[in-house]
Amino acid sequence: MSDHNNAMSDHSNAFFSHIAQTSDDPIGLEIDSAEGCLLRTTDGRTFVDLISGIAVSSLGHRHPAVIDAIRQQLDRHLHVMVYGEFIQKTQSDLASLLTSQLPESLQRVYFVNSGTEAIEGALKLAKKHTGRQKFVSFHNSYHGDTQGALSVTGRDVYRNAYLPLLPDVHFLEFNSPDNLDQIDEKTAAVILEPIQGEGGVIPAGKEWLQAVRQRCDETGAILIFDEIQSGLYRTGKLFAFEHYQVVPDILCLAKALGGGMPLGAFASSNEIFRVFRENPPLNHVTTFGGHPVSCAAAHANLQVLLNGDFGQKVDRINRIAREMLSGPGIVELRGMGAMLGLELDSPERTQQVVERCFEEGVILGWTLHSDTLIRIAPPLVIEEDLLRESLQVILNSLE
Ligand code: PMP
Repeated sequence: MSDHNNAMSDHSNAFFSHIAQTSDDPIGLEIDSAEGCLLRTTDGRTFVDLISGIAVSSLGHRHPAVIDAIRQQLDRHLHVMVYGEFIQKTQSDLASLLTSQLPESLQRVYFVNSGTEAIEGALKLAKKHTGRQKFVSFHNSYHGDTQGALSVTGRDVYRNAYLPLLPDVHFLEFNSPDNLDQIDEKTAAVILEPIQGEGGVIPAGKEWLQAVRQRCDETGAILIFDEIQSGLYRTGKLFAFEHYQVVPDILCLAKALGGGMPLGAFASSNEIFRVFRENPPLNHVTTFGGHPVSCAAAHANLQVLLNGDFGQKVDRINRIAREMLSGPGIVELRGMGAMLGLELDSPERTQQVVERCFEEGVILGWTLHSDTLIRIAPPLVIEEDLLRESLQVILNSLE
């Protein structure tokens, strides 16, 4: 065995011996480097990343503009103070650019470390602003795994071991007009994903979402959109809410926002955010929230996204996928833009396709809530030839 291989097995041993495991069956690829749409392993294999680290690497891995911005920030400063006290150029630049793309009512941004933390912040903000405790969420939703976020996540199998969670959370059927009267004057917030991701890549209906908005307006409930997966052009528009002409009161972002660096954010109005400043101030302290290197990366990432015809690029990905992905074994291809779910006719076939694609060098995604769905969310910069070749691998694996 070469030195190189010895080193590889050391890393692998440490992974299995000392890194807390999340399942008995991790993918276990030992990554050497990642560039564009490709992942390279220490044993010399190359994989096409059709899931972007689960909807993160929209510009592909290590986009040069992102790397350059990170390098420049490394020469200025790293962490200097907990979030919210010092004026840091990268945070301010990012907030300006992000809010320039958001409506009047979402002109303030709170930066945090992750999607889950954005959800926690949003739930707290809604509670304090309204003085109410009740939340309405939807079956099969996913909002994160800390206790607040898990409280509004609509899948019992992930919740049961941790009960009791937040007490006053009501789950309704996603996309069903029934029971919207459960959104009432006691409701602090309604939280939803405009396209449920882990729940099976299910877009909200336009009329339904508008009805939810109306019900929130009638009752004074805050409407929170979790666009942690659907944001940043994943669906063909910068934010999925633009497809619906429905503006939330609080918008949660993460994943693709940081261009590969950890960053979350929740945006809302001056009026709603006011309660975080007083009685008492410092309501959501986060040491590393809005880390300067993450904000530098996010700013460069957003600039590239805004200047790059990503609406068209994403439409093309969608068109090619719809054109190619049909035939025996495929029940349905659903989703929006480059946030796609391929429903197959059995769990066995689904497992087979994921495994065969892996052997052929294509990484696909799974969802937490379904065993017959393959998730496809390639980097938005994927070239047409590579996309077609990779989708052909999926088709071949179905046989
Ligand atoms: N909300 C949604 C819709 C998500 O997809 C995720 C992550 N899968 C989260 C929240 C949690 O984000 P994070 O993993 O960054 O905490």
